[in-house]
Amino acid sequence: MSKMKGAILPGNSTVEIKEFDIPTPGPGQVLIQTKASTICGSDIRCIYREHTGKGAEGYIPGMIAGHEPCGIIVEEGPGLKRFKKGDRVIVYHISGCGLCYDCRKGYYISCKSEHRRAYGWQRDGGMAPYILADEKDLIFLPDELTYKDGAQVACGFGTVYEAFEKIGVNGNDAVLVTGLGPVGLAALMIAKALGANKLIGVEMNPYRIELAKKLGLVDYVFEPENAVEEIKKVTGGHGVERAIDASASVGGRRIAIQATREWGKIAFVGEGGSCTFLPSEELLHGQKTIYGSWVTSLWKMEDLVERLVRWGIHPEDLITHEFLLEEADEAYRLMAGGDCGKVAVVFD
Ligand SMILES: [Zn+2]
Ligand SMILES: [Zn+2]
Repeated sequence: MSKMKGAILPGNSTVEIKEFDIPTPGPGQVLIQTKASTICGSDIRCIYREHTGKGAEGYIPGMIAGHEPCGIIVEEGPGLKRFKKGDRVIVYHISGCGLCYDCRKGYYISCKSEHRRAYGWQRDGGMAPYILADEKDLIFLPDELTYKDGAQVACGFGTVYEAFEKIGVNGNDAVLVTGLGPVGLAALMIAKALGANKLIGVEMNPYRIELAKKLGLVDYVFEPENAVEEIKKVTGGHGVERAIDASASVGGRRIAIQATREWGKIAFVGEGGSCTFLPSEELLHGQKTIYGSWVTSLWKMEDLVERLVRWGIHPEDLITHEFLLEEADEAYRLMAGGDCGKVAVVFD
């Protein structure tokens, strides 16, 4: 059996490269040659610095990291029903049991079965040249999209697409995104594609402010101090119709609520942290709605890849830094520091 290198996260702000067997696909499984694997904020939050995640976010030490892989099927296990060798595929990053209520709705993310396994957390993920995946977890990558586009679909873009499906966006709307990390930038990219007529960002990291401007994804970007007043000034004094919080901070979430006008809708997608606001004054009396949104479903991911092609947009535009697997330590360190857009590990 041949061997491969894979990256693991020991939980002390480093990456270790170890040797693994190249797996053989069993019934209903495929072996994927990894082409691109992007790093997620939740890898940093729950695994990289310390193994703080519990339950669905619990990392089993020694697992190959990376839950945002994209590649091509190079080997078929027995009994495949839809996919075949040579197909370019995205891996939905959680392998649900497939049989519970949540899985039957396509939300493997919400599966509570003991059989649920997240790639890169409780089963081997994408930071290796090959990944073993279940056929039921795959989404076709259309020819028009690159592997680097595909790597960002399941987690980042799927997450914001789901949130916009909940709050709805059209050409009447000014859209605010608080927190312009990769998820926030993805939100702006999709809001723009959906026809939002004004795009507003709130961010304090100078690198990310410049990146949002350079990518043409913001009409206005404000630092948190006075952001609410500034946003009202550019929205007729009323605030935005729609807001997404990707900051996961107390301050960012409160700005998203306060800067949304009466009858407006807000979605929270940033993970962790806490939230403080005045319910009567800032939410109830304004007839506002806050939605919680966690990742997306298999069918919405299929819709999303179709729409990315129709809109002609490329998630890979958010990738600012690329590394080889041997340089994964540097890749995660950069992502943890925050002076970057999306960070990708790429393979030949
Ligand atoms: Zn992720
Ligand atoms: Zn399930």
